[in-house]
Amino acid sequence: MANKIFDVAVIGGGIVGTATAMALARTHNYSVIVLEAEAELAAHQTGNNSGVIHSGLYYKPGSLKALNCVEGREKLYAFCKEHGIAHDQCGKVVVATDESEIPRLNDLEQRGNANGLKGLKRLSPEEIKEIEPHVTGIDGLFVRETGIVDYVEVTKKFCEIVEQNGGEIRTSARVLECKRTSDGLTLTTTKGPVQCKNLVNCAGLQSDRVARMCGVEPGLKIIPFRGEYYELVPEKHDLVKNLIYPVPDPQFPFLGVHFTRMIHGGVEAGPNAVMAFKREGYHKTSFSMKDMVEAVFYRGFWIMAFKFWKMGMGEYYRSFFKGAFVKALQRLIPELQGEDIHPGGAGVRAQALEPSGALVDDFRIVEAENMVHVLNAPSPAATASISIGEKIAVMANKNFATM
Ligand SMILES: Cc1cc2nc3c(=O)[nH]c(=O)nc-3n(C[C@H](O)[C@H](O)[C@H](O)COP(=O)(O)OP(=O)(O)OC[C@H]3O[C@@H](n4cnc5c(N)ncnc54)[C@H](O)[C@@H]3O)c2cc1C
Repeated sequence: MANKIFDVAVIGGGIVGTATAMALARTHNYSVIVLEAEAELAAHQTGNNSGVIHSGLYYKPGSLKALNCVEGREKLYAFCKEHGIAHDQCGKVVVATDESEIPRLNDLEQRGNANGLKGLKRLSPEEIKEIEPHVTGIDGLFVRETGIVDYVEVTKKFCEIVEQNGGEIRTSARVLECKRTSDGLTLTTTKGPVQCKNLVNCAGLQSDRVARMCGVEPGLKIIPFRGEYYELVPEKHDLVKNLIYPVPDPQFPFLGVHFTRMIHGGVEAGPNAVMAFKREGYHKTSFSMKDMVEAVFYRGFWIMAFKFWKMGMGEYYRSFFKGAFVKALQRLIPELQGEDIHPGGAGVRAQALEPSGALVDDFRIVEAENMVHVLNAPSPAATASISIGEKIAVMANKNFATM
């Protein structure tokens, strides 16, 4: 096994890496190995997300996000049906609670139509209550295509298919070094060396570092944004039937705190978006000197901080004061009280930031000799994963050395 030369090594056992490995192994017949740093698959973004199958409502028409979300969503529903993975296409409501949000709700509806959504329906305050009896809004939008699923289950199924097609999944195998040799590429991992002809970097929160390790300058830096959740206490689950979202601020890439019914039961409220002081920083006290030093010596960081400081302070305030979080949620469900929610988990988003201070909005996938690097795959990349994986496999097929 030590001497085996794989056609492709995929770095990262999250949903994007494993979907890519599935497409490479199943459709293109490559011998594939997935190298995952952690002992478990989907340990980071994929395993700590909201579990929403996004419709494609929010994204700029023609963008990679829009195209892959719409295509990926349908493929994901079909995949779940085919493999018996629990999911529910329950739809969601987006609720305007203030007159100033109505023009933005109009824009969202237009975007959704431009992205080919068929199930959009404008809702009066009474119609909002028919769908979500505890929600008070002045205008709303019902999005039929939205659903819920457990993305860890989906990832595990992708891996089963990789293995059925001759691929290998190696966990606890953090890639530490990448060297070009006469045979291709040699990867040093925490579980021994791996020889491959080509690689795909799907390392999420570490994708910029992995690119650099592979000799590719990413031209951006990953900045971690933690999203903290509360959970509704069981007696209050009936406050939420399915999914309830506010109208998002188009200046900010995150969607605002919302209510999400989970596929295995329970209701989450959140996530907020606070800058984390560590890339895999799931707690308020998580801190990494390396991550912070890298961030503060990056020009783009200060430009972003200057631009978003006010919004950022609001998010920190909500993070530390439950009352403020409850107030944000009460905009959607006025009768919700502090004792109705208790702290839940957290996820950390890998958000790419350019030296200009611009948050990279779209997916960013770059090619190099014998390599493909996925440098920005934020939400809705879990929804879009099957489609992204197929696109990367097609790219790889063209780019990689003849095998
Ligand atoms: C709070 C939150 C809520 C979200 N909600 C949704 C949602 O409802 N719907 C949706 O579609 N999307 C959602 N997203 C986005 C979605 O989860 C991500 O876009 C998606 O999971 C990205 O997958 P990935 O495989 O690129 O990254 P990850 O899941 O982070 O996987 C990357 C993997 O690479 C591994 N790795 C890193 N470095 C190395 C190395 N050197 N060697 C080997 N392995 C390495 C990591 O351990 C990790 O497992 C959410 C994200 C967050 C954080």
